[in-house]
Amino acid sequence: TKKKLFSISKSLNEINEIIGKQIFYSNIEMSFNYKNKDEELLIYGYENEFKQVLLNLVNNAKNKIIDKQQDENKKGNIQINIERCINYNSIEIIDDAGKIDETIIHSIFQPYFTTKADGTGLGLYMAKVIIEDKMRGTITVRNEDDNVIFTIRLPHKKV
Ligand code: ADP
Ligand code: MG
Repeated sequence: TKKKLFSISKSLNEINEIIGKQIFYSNIEMSFNYKNKDEELLIYGYENEFKQVLLNLVNNAKNKIIDKQQDENKKGNIQINIERCINYNSIEIIDDAGKIDETIIHSIFQPYFTTKADGTGLGLYMAKVIIEDKMRGTITVRNEDDNVIFTIRLPHKKV
């Protein structure tokens, strides 16, 4: 397939159709916040790969929240922020189920790095390859209080 311009909101709606119900019934609130309300934001790249990356990030967040709910049963939150910037568009995926240990935060994009008994450690590695090598964007992670924030930046015009 070839690179093309595609709509971020369309991708996010499709993600929501795939796992929205499952997330809702897991006592998790997922919200989509479009900063530029009346503008259709686009990305230049590979639509299916982009959706695969988002699905992975949301799944990681969902599973961490569900794990945490074994100990304390309260509502979890996944927040997705979409914003237009000058040279790129950004998508933040934020969960509130606890920070990533500072001793491993620099390793999580490495292939086969996992802290899960049944993990493959390939999700974030693939995300890095797709976003940075194939689509010329960036994907980064940071802790903020008990939240983990993944930020994806991708070009909105042909590169
Ligand atoms: P896997 O899900 O198979 O472990 P990933 O590449 O998706 O592989 O993730 C690698 C590791 O990064 C996870 O095992 C986990 O330790 C950490 N991680 C990923 N997403 C999150 C998150 N939202 N919050 C905290 N840690 C995370
Ligand atoms: Mg994963």
